[in-house]
Amino acid sequence: MTPQDIDFDLSEEERSIRDLVHRFAEEVMRPAGQALDRRSAEEVIARGSILWDVHKKWNDLGVHMFATEGSDLTPAQLARLNCLVTEELGWGDAGLAISLGASEFPAMLAQTSQNPDLIAAFPVSKIGCWAITEPDHGSNSLDMSADPKRPYLQKPNCVARRDGDFYVISGQKAAWVSNGSMAETAALYTAVDNGDGATNGGVLLVDLTSRGVTRGRPLEKLGQRALPQGEIFFDDVRVPLTHMVIPPEMYPMGLELTLTSANGFMGGTFVGCARAAYEMALEYAKQRVQGGVTIIIHQAVKLKLFEMFRKVEAARALNRRVVLYNTVHNPLIGAPEGSFPAVQFAIASKVTSTQTSFEVASDALQIFGGNGLSYEYPIEKLMRDARASLIEDGTNEVLALHAADRL
Ligand SMILES: Cc1cc2nc3c(=O)[nH]c(=O)nc-3n(C[C@H](O)[C@H](O)[C@H](O)COP(=O)(O)OP(=O)(O)OC[C@H]3O[C@@H](n4cnc5c(N)ncnc54)[C@H](O)[C@@H]3O)c2cc1C
Repeated sequence: MTPQDIDFDLSEEERSIRDLVHRFAEEVMRPAGQALDRRSAEEVIARGSILWDVHKKWNDLGVHMFATEGSDLTPAQLARLNCLVTEELGWGDAGLAISLGASEFPAMLAQTSQNPDLIAAFPVSKIGCWAITEPDHGSNSLDMSADPKRPYLQKPNCVARRDGDFYVISGQKAAWVSNGSMAETAALYTAVDNGDGATNGGVLLVDLTSRGVTRGRPLEKLGQRALPQGEIFFDDVRVPLTHMVIPPEMYPMGLELTLTSANGFMGGTFVGCARAAYEMALEYAKQRVQGGVTIIIHQAVKLKLFEMFRKVEAARALNRRVVLYNTVHNPLIGAPEGSFPAVQFAIASKVTSTQTSFEVASDALQIFGGNGLSYEYPIEKLMRDARASLIEDGTNEVLALHAADRL
């Protein structure tokens, strides 16, 4: 845990789940993330890769972040637990944390639909993904407005066309879809043509083992290399109408709810990533002897460590406040009529945590000196992982612009 654990108000159950997830993060995710970081993107998803093992062990643990149906916890308890769990996962390995979180998206939407067939077909045990980004639609696919002239709908790369009792999907999603290269199921955020042109978006649950689904080459990238990504192609893939879990008329609201959850999740994950970097730097500064003294005695080093500590605490405090409010006000998990989450606060948490994790990891690397640049120490990987988060699930700039529209 943190050097001084000030979470004095946790219940015994919360404390034991947090500690369980911490052990998983330390014993399973850390070593797996470091090993996968050195593999090619092809090797990361190859059968027998440790990545499959991480998913299986996580699933066996039975702790979930999004797909929480059947839980007897109140929304407020769910929110508290979610923050604890996502922080520990992000502390273990940010890329793997995202892989585990994104995996739950199809199951969460199936549960929200309350359709027993969908719940059975899209269980949390199947590796899922959230597929929204397209080659020609990155930032603009996150536009939550209901403006029918949204550029996203002008020339979509992926369209679900209504054909009787089915939707027929053709086109592709970009290489950036987390788990895209290995997922068995997708929550596909796509343009929908109900016979009047692709006039709006919608969300379909898709079995990615269906005929007509193929994958591109797994993506090589700078950071979060343990997180598998790659294009998904759809060649006339037929999906029953009942799989449309967010229909066009609800798409803007559905997208806003999605971004609210995703940004809260990112906020928690990168508090964990930042804390990991801070803890590593603190430990190193206490041990590294240079010029006959440990480097922590130098004021410049101490001040840096305090700034890192302060930023982690501030990012965590914001994340918990935001996730609590947004979970308690989520109409999909029983909030009273008229309540709605506030996406601008979720974005504030995502931007704060990811920026914090990048700054803290960069300062941590500085404290490691030359060793920080070496593959022998874990800190350069953390900095690469944190760097990716400034773009992940929406660039911080574009998310900030959306949030600013709500002020
Ligand atoms: C690690 C990682 C994980 C990801 N996971 C997923 C996932 O699970 N599912 C998924 O579908 N996608 C995922 N993405 C994709 C991610 O959401 C997009 O990369 C992101 O939305 C940006 O889109 P883009 O890369 O096409 O950049 P672009 O949209 O091309 O943007 C390029 C630059 O232009 C700026 N810009 C663009 N439009 C505007 C504007 N209107 N105003 C101001 N500036 C603008 C951006 O800020 C950016 O600096 C992931 C990305 C990463 C890096």
